[in-house]
Amino acid sequence: MIIRKSKGELETMREGGKITAACLRFLTRNVSPGVTTGQLDRMAEEFIRSFGGTPEFKGYQGFPGSICASPNAMIVHGIPGSYRLKDGDIISLDVGVRFEGFVTDSATTVAVGDVAKATEDLLLTTRQCLIAASGQVRPGKRLGDIGNAIQVLAESRGYGVVRDLVSHGVGRKMHEEPQLPNYGRPGTGPRLQAGMTFAIEPMITLGSYDIRIDDRDGWSIYTADGSLSAHFEHTVAVTEDGPWVLTQEEPNGVGGTGGVW
Ligand code: MG
Ligand code: MG
Repeated sequence: MIIRKSKGELETMREGGKITAACLRFLTRNVSPGVTTGQLDRMAEEFIRSFGGTPEFKGYQGFPGSICASPNAMIVHGIPGSYRLKDGDIISLDVGVRFEGFVTDSATTVAVGDVAKATEDLLLTTRQCLIAASGQVRPGKRLGDIGNAIQVLAESRGYGVVRDLVSHGVGRKMHEEPQLPNYGRPGTGPRLQAGMTFAIEPMITLGSYDIRIDDRDGWSIYTADGSLSAHFEHTVAVTEDGPWVLTQEEPNGVGGTGGVW
């Protein structure tokens, strides 16, 4: 069942989403060559707690970090630690915050120093996939419309859309129904209704969409072919007025794709 949230619950999620957004902005500003992912993790935890939130990932099924930090060919679920960012890297930063009983979940991928043009293009397209998908989050649309918006844009530019990892419902739990593939056929699946909330997270690769799980730590997920992967995520609510991007920085995201992404 897809759990619908009341107006008041959405407003609470928006308050938490502001913390998530500000944390990601803070981390992005601290990304530079020489910084370790463990340092970013500690900064994030302190930041989130200072605003009255808790880092939802910490202890989630035993995950040791407050954030996921996934460089280069790592798609998601990187454990923060001794990895030191270097010029030309990209780093996916994924943050989940629990605030007043609700979770918001958001991610961005940041270029470290100077990156190749092809890498910049991958980041831009992945961000555009998230914007396109968020634009579908309206009453009367169907679940398949969201994934389709991602797939059509990414594949039209020759990228791979990761299939084994999905977007998801989010609310009192980080992972609620539905599981939402980042591909799909338009006009299929459940109809969207006001109050539904989704963490939409396209994972787009420069190569194929096959994945490999690191059997040393059991968490890190890489592209199987070693190609670069980008990951952007927002928590988005369906409202009668259109998409409400709960993890967007101010001005708030009513109406969807305006404002700062
Ligand atoms: Mg996330
Ligand atoms: Mg997520």
